[in-house]
Order: sequence, then C-alpha cells, then structure tokens
Amino acid sequence: MYMLKNVLRNLSGKPATRLYPLEEREPFPAYRGVITNDVERCIFCNTCARICPTDAITVDAKAGQWVYDPFLCVYCAACVEKCPTKCLVQQPIHRKPSVTKFRVLRTGTPRVKKTATAKAKAESSTKEKPESE
Ligand code: SF4
Ligand code: SF4
Repeated sequence: MYMLKNVLRNLSGKPATRLYPLEEREPFPAYRGVITNDVERCIFCNTCARICPTDAITVDAKAGQWVYDPFLCVYCAACVEKCPTKCLVQQPIHRKPSVTKFRVLRTGTPRVKKTATAKAKAESSTKEKPESE
C-alpha cells in the first residue's frame, strides 16, 4: 500500500530531474563550475597538478603547457584555492555534455630555470660599479 502511494505520487508529480542541456538550472552562489586557466598569469609551478586528487591536471613547465581533463575532475576547487597566481578560476557555468572525451590544453611562456652561469651573470650585472677616482 505504502509503495503504491509513492508510485502514484511520482507519476502525478513533476519530474525530479531536468532535461539538461535543453533545460539548465541557474547556478547557485559559489557554484563550482567549469575551470579555466588565464595562462598568461600561469607560472607552471605544478602546484595544481600536485594537489589534484584525481590527476586531472598535468603541467609541463619546460614546454609551457597546462593540460586539464574535465572528465577526471571532480570540481573540488583544491587547485583553484592553492594556485599562487590565482590564474585558475571556476566559472559559474555547467560543463557541456559530450559523447567524446577531450582534454583542454593551454600553452603559455615556458618557465626557464636559471643556470648557475646565468645567475652569476645576473648578479654581476646588478652589482654597483665602484665610483671612478
Ligand atoms: S597552480 Fe596556478 S600557476 Fe601553478 S601551474 Fe597550476 S595554474 Fe599555473
Ligand atoms: S577541481 Fe579538484 S579535481 Fe578538478 S582539477 Fe582542480 S583539484 Fe583536480
């Protein structure tokens, strides 16, 4: 009897789900949506890749590449919170459905490691020259 009541109520009521993407729900405040990287500000420090619990991000500092897999991401926002330059942002929009998997590649200026010689050169050029007598 109890089950029948539930069945009748569910048949006569509104559906509990939406016909996404035809019918989109308005994102609520602080919604954790699609992740974007303003790669011009990215320093390829690898913090986001290290902290990601699902390995959704890979960073190649030498090539200046940031790769993000939206199908691995669980939208926890850990990377966004820890990014030192705040170049990662979660937009208040839903990820579009897709029948094929893809990854997002963002390319910026590679991070160049200073060699010992380059460091020494930079230091000597910044040293003040002694005043001539
Ligand atoms: S944490 Fe931020 S700055 Fe560092 S690699 Fe990731 S996106 Fe770039
Ligand atoms: S939101 Fe979470 S799961 Fe998604 S890329 Fe960032 S750290 Fe990884």
